This record gives sequence, C-alpha cells and structure tokens, in this order.
Amino acid sequence: MKIMKFGGSSLATAAKFNHVVGLIEHQTVPVCGVFSAPQGVTNSLADLIAMIQAQQDITPQLDLISQNLLTISTDCASLRDGFDASHNHLQTTELLEDLRSLAQGCLLIGHCPKVTAAQIYSTGEKFSTLLMAALLRTKSKVTVIDPKHFLTTEDFSDEPIADIEQSVQLFKQHYADAEEVAVMPGFYGVNPAGDLCLLGRNGSDYSAAILAVCTAATVCEIWTDVDGIYSVDPRLVAQAQLIKQMSYQEAMELSYFGAKILHPKTITPLSKHQIQCVIKNTLNPAHAGTLISAKTDKEKAVKAISNLSDVAMINVSGPGMKGMVGMAARVFASMSEANISVILISQSSSEYSISFCVPGEEADLAVKRLNQSFKLELKNALLEPIQCRKDLAIITLIGDRMHQQKGTASRFFSALSHARVNIIAIAQDSSERSISAVVRAKRVDDAVVICHQQLFLKKPRIDAFLIGCGTVGHELIQQINKQKDWLKSKEVELNLVGIANSRQCLLSANGIDLDQWQAQLARCEEGLSLDRLKQFVRSAHLTNPVIIDCTSNQEIAMNYLSYLEANFHVVTANKKANTDSLTYYHQLQNMAAKRQRRFLYETNVGAGLPVIDNLQSLLRAGDQLLQFEGILSGSLSYIFGEIHQGLSLSEATLKAKKLGYTEPNPAEDLNGMDVARKVLVIAREAGMELELSDVDLQAVVPAHLAAMTDGEQFMHQLPEYDASFQKLIDDAESKGEKLRYVALIKDHKCAVKIQSVGPDHPLYEIEAGENALAINTLYYQPKPFIIRGYGAGAEVTAAGLFGDLLRTLAWEQEH
Ligand code: ADP
Ligand code: ASP
Ligand code: MG
Repeated sequence: MKIMKFGGSSLATAAKFNHVVGLIEHQTVPVCGVFSAPQGVTNSLADLIAMIQAQQDITPQLDLISQNLLTISTDCASLRDGFDASHNHLQTTELLEDLRSLAQGCLLIGHCPKVTAAQIYSTGEKFSTLLMAALLRTKSKVTVIDPKHFLTTEDFSDEPIADIEQSVQLFKQHYADAEEVAVMPGFYGVNPAGDLCLLGRNGSDYSAAILAVCTAATVCEIWTDVDGIYSVDPRLVAQAQLIKQMSYQEAMELSYFGAKILHPKTITPLSKHQIQCVIKNTLNPAHAGTLISAKTDKEKAVKAISNLSDVAMINVSGPGMKGMVGMAARVFASMSEANISVILISQSSSEYSISFCVPGEEADLAVKRLNQSFKLELKNALLEPIQCRKDLAIITLIGDRMHQQKGTASRFFSALSHARVNIIAIAQDSSERSISAVVRAKRVDDAVVICHQQLFLKKPRIDAFLIGCGTVGHELIQQINKQKDWLKSKEVELNLVGIANSRQCLLSANGIDLDQWQAQLARCEEGLSLDRLKQFVRSAHLTNPVIIDCTSNQEIAMNYLSYLEANFHVVTANKKANTDSLTYYHQLQNMAAKRQRRFLYETNVGAGLPVIDNLQSLLRAGDQLLQFEGILSGSLSYIFGEIHQGLSLSEATLKAKKLGYTEPNPAEDLNGMDVARKVLVIAREAGMELELSDVDLQAVVPAHLAAMTDGEQFMHQLPEYDASFQKLIDDAESKGEKLRYVALIKDHKCAVKIQSVGPDHPLYEIEAGENALAINTLYYQPKPFIIRGYGAGAEVTAAGLFGDLLRTLAWEQEH
C-alpha cells in the first residue's frame, strides 16, 4: 500500500484535481489518497468562524466559499469522461448546506463551539475527497475512508496526538475490505469523547502518516508544490538547495522548528514503524523528491535552516531558583497542565533563571499559570516577577552529522552577528542535531537569509547602489560588467542592485542587467531617497549593502552619516564629506566604527593610486606622517608640464581644456581648491585636526580670476595674466628649475602653492598629467616613499572605486 497525500497547493483548480487523478491512476500498487482542502479554502473557513465570533453578516463569506467549491466541481465535468457531475454537484450542495446551517446556528448562539468549528473546518477536506472519489470512479472502484470511524486522538488540545494503537484497531474493523483505490480527507479525527476534532493547521500530513501506519503502507508520499525539502524555505531564499535524503530525526527537527513543508507530528509515527516518507512535487512528478528514512546522506553536516515565528520567551528567575530541587519540574508541570507546549529551554549555569519559549498566542496564559503556581515564592520575593518577551522567533540549524563538524555554532553565531541580529537565547539538543537561537521576530527573515548565505552558499556578497552615472559611474558599471566572470571565479557575488542619477533611481533586488541599465533607468519615475533605499534593503533582506557615490554633490555627501547609521557601507569618490567640518568628519568615522561598516574613499586623493590605504597601513603599524609634498591635480600637472614646453599659461590651459583634462570651467582647477581638499584629506588621515579654511591656499591665478564662475569668460580673461606668469617661469628656468603646483604638509600645517623645484627634487620630473606623492614618515626617512602615476581619469578612478567596493568584503573576513 502506498499513501499519497496531496496538499491544498496541489488542489487549487479543477485542472489540478484532474492532474492528481492521473497521478493516482498511474500507480501499480494499491493506493490511498489523502486530501487537503483546495488552496485557500481553510483560510476562508477560518475567516468565516472569525466573522461568526464577531457577530458579523456571514452570508457574503458563505456565498464566496460555495461559489469557489461549486466552480471547481462544475469545471471537472468538461475534463473527464464518465464523471458523474450531477451527483457530485448534489453532494457538494449538501455539504455546503450543512456548512450554512452550522454557521448560522453558531451565529444565533453568538459563538462557535470547538466541535462545531471542527465540523466547519473539515468542509474543505470533505469536498476534496468527495470530488476525488467521483473522478477516480470513472475508472476504478473507490473506497471512501472516513477518519471519524478510526482516527482517534489522545487529548482535547488544539494539536492533539493520535492514539495510534486504537486507530490501527478501528481501521481494521472498518476497512478490512477496502478497494485498491481509497480516498480519505485529511486534517481531522475524533477526540477521546468521540467528537470530531482537528489535528492542527497543516494537519493532513499527519493524517497521511497515521493512515500509513494503519494500512501498514510501505511509503507515505507527501505531494506538494516544491521538488522536495530544501536547505531553507525556497520562498524566502531563491538559492535554497534541494536535499535528496534525510533521516527521520532531521525531518522531525526541521518540521518541529517551523518548516511549513511538513506538519511537526508527521514523522514520529512513520519513524516508529519504519515507513519511508517521500516529499514530491505534483507539478514535477518525474523528480525523485526528498526521501526521509532511517538513513541520512553524508553530503552535508548542516542540512537545513528553519525558523519558527511568533514565539514568546518566558523567564523565571530569582534567588529561590538556586539549589531548590524541583523548581524546573514545577515550572514545566504548570505548563503541561495548561496544555502549553514548551518549544525550547535554556537555563543559566548559575541556576538562577530558566528561560523557555512558548507559542506566542499562549504567552499570556503561561504567565498567568506561573503566577498562580508560584504565588507564594513571588510574594516572598524568592522569585522576581515572571518576565515575558513577545514577538520573538527561533532560527534553527539542523543536521545529524553536525556534531562531527567543529565550528558550526561559531559560524552560525557569527552569521547572526554579521546580520546584526541580536541573539536573545541559545539552545542545543544534547545529540547536537540542532542548534537554535532566539531572535526578534522582525529580524528572523534577515537572519535566515544571511545564515544560509554563510553556511551553505559560503559566497561573500555585495549589494551595491551607485549614485551618479556620469563618466566615472558609467565606467564603474562597465568594469563591474566586464569583471563578471572573474568575480564568479573568485566566488564573490557582486550585484549592482541600484543605479541613481539626480532625478531617477532604478532598483532591482536580484541585480540590474548591466547591458540594459540605461534604458531601464530612463523609464524610472521615482528618485533616490534614504527611506526608499532602507525599505528596499529591508524587503530584499540585503545584508551587505554598499552606497557608491560617484558625484561631487554636497547634499549626497551630507547623507553618508544616515547611510552608515542605516548599516550601509559607503564608498565614495566625492571629496565633499571628508572636507566638510571636522565634526562631520569625526561623526562619519565614529558611525562607521559603531556600525562596523566601511567608509572608503581611496579615490579622494590620486584617483586609483593607493594613497589612503598605504597611509592607513603605515599608521596602523605605529608610523607617523612627518612631511608630505605632492602633485595632486592631474590637470595642473599637465598644464605645468606644457608651460615648460614653451606655451603660455592660457595656451596650456586651453590645450588641457580641449583634451578634456580640466573642469568645464578651468577656474575650478586653477583656483587650487580641489588640491586643497585633497591635502586636507591626507592631513586628517594622519590625525591632524584641521579645517579646510586652515589650508594656506595660493591659487595658480590671482583671486579675481580664481573666483570666476563662467568658464568662457575665464578663458577670455586668462591671457591678461600670462605676462606676469611668464616671469615666474623665466625665473625658475634661469635657475635650471621648473614650476610645480604643490601640496605640502609640514609642521602640522597644510599649504597649496606654486613652487620652483630643481632637478634633485622628487617632483621635478612629474608632468603630463601624472600625480606624485612624496611621503616622509618615521619609517620612511630621510628618503620619502613615493607614489606616482595617473591620478585622474574615469578608468583609474573607477578602478579605485572597484577596489574599495571589494574591500567592503574584507570587513567580513577581518571581523
Ligand atoms: P501543501 O499545500 O502542499 O500542504 P504547504 O504550503 O503546506 O503545501 O507546504 C509547502 C511549502 O512549504 C513550500 O511551498 C515552501 O514554501 C514551504 N517550505 C518551508 N520550508 C521549506 C523547506 N525547507 N523546503 C521546502 N519547502 C519549504
Ligand atoms: N487544510 C488544512 C490547512 O490548511 C490542513 C492541511 O492543508 O494540511 O491547514
Ligand atoms: Mg501543508
């Protein structure tokens, strides 16, 4: 005998019913089908009961349910020859009339007694079974098994345990002559008083397992809407991995700790009677599914992650707990008397307190019972007031072979810490088959996602948001796209999930298609906002979000603090934040440390040249900056190179402008402000408490020219200064020297100025757009350490940003 249980997801429409009939008919061994209600029907019945209890008009709800079931029944007529549609219609109508009169009766008396509620709830399963019987009868003789006759339970709780021995006996009495094809509704049985009772939500799985024992079946198949059991709920994590084989114990722990795929009581009877269980996909019947038996496969020590939402944690503590024999027993006895299931227990080693979790809806009752049981102790201050923390969830790792693998718990907890999920309590079963952590319910999905990433996929992941898609931003997108295969080979998952310009913002949780981004961005209507990004990160459960700022916008720079506070890393080419007030500078550094997020700005100085990182490494090793001299502007480096080739200042500037080396308004280069910002970034990095106004800035051109805001006018007026500037050139050249526009740090002061340097000077050779930095430190003296190369241009700047982006991963590895 084989049991085939079909869940609501397999029975949503007439076509699905017909498909299931085909699967049953295809079998070569005797089969008993166990059926749930069609998808959504149990929820509709639950709503109906809620409406009765709220004394609302129930007619529309009854009509809705009737229409749903009658449509499925009627639609079957055209799908199957020989189907007795009118008879089934009659049966369905009778079932619905029963439902109507039960519901209306309850409405009259003002409440819905438990037995009547069970009758109302069972309507969906009864409907499915009658319809399946009628469909199967077109080809076979069919026995309809009624759980009322045999499936007895041991208690009156909402999730009762089946009395298997008695059920087996009764089944034999009633169904010894069952046909080779039988059908049975799931979800209900009878209580010890002989009244109809439910087995709890999702209980049809349990019905199937009980029937498997009663029929001495060889296998119990649970047919659902996924290919089997996955390492995590595939609805939550798209990269969930299918498990081919697992042990009874593993499946038991998994379902106990919340995996909806199986009702938690399903496995116990199957394991006791060594009946195999196979989870199969109704829509993909050829797939082998997941086999649950006495054996597990050796593939992975950690098999799965599950989570149980809506639990509360109760804490009983106080001096009276210590050394008092039997306190724990009394705590749990009072829970069991109240029929409250205790999900997880954790006791402090000092025995000063016991914490345990109960289902959320039972929390108030649990506290009430404990207050009653320990009235005396509470009155005499032997116990502190019973504490109850609601809105919690439990996340659990499961695997038979977990005890053979060291470090699982530590990886689990570090993943949670990485997701910034606070662990409220921890519990591990003594066989080390499961490790659980209690966390806030609000954060449990994030916790599951990141634990799965770190324990199963083991791929570091970056979710990047790019702001500003001008030349540098555009180039960075291209580099990320170009490096796709390389990133894959390094097992790094780098997704660009957001691209924004000043008006629009494109978001895509699974990564934007980098070949199509421009067209997609152009279609976006909404712009970027911190709230929008935060909401997006939350709903997509992104755990390593990074903002990349490729603008030079002051307003965006002033948002970094909020981004860091909201747990984004910030990678920026924009110098405005680091050269704003010293207070803001410190706030950013402190917030990054507090949130353990990276704030990276390598490209603020020398574009892709490794300046900041080198400096930081030296300072970390106890070095100190003694003196700095450098050429920090690519455009000025070029212009100063050209003037020694015989061009006037205005000619050299025009040439540089035409080549695209300057800002659209070259005054912004020649006023020296950009260089001043860069030198300030270096000085602050070295620990100097300076403001931008502290930099002694001498522009290349006189103040009235430096201040011009119109680029064309500036170029028009610049030649007026050529003659004076030529004097400076001539003076330098007469001494065999060259002019350079230099940034200096010396004696805790910063300056930016034109300097005449001789052939021995490290900056003498630097021209044609190169940057050079001569850094004297405690460790590097008297000869400075020199960094030299192109310090401007989209390619090198984007490469610098790319490097910073990957360094956000280093945080994970270092910490
Ligand atoms: P049915 O209607 O067939 O009873 P359920 O909705 O009760 O189906 O259970 C199937 C669902 O269980 C799947 O669609 C999936 O979202 C969920 N699920 C939760 N955890 C897991 C897991 N670890 N593996 C597979 N499915 C899971
Ligand atoms: N129909 C019931 C429910 O939705 C039982 C089941 O599907 O297993 O909970
Ligand atoms: Mg189910």
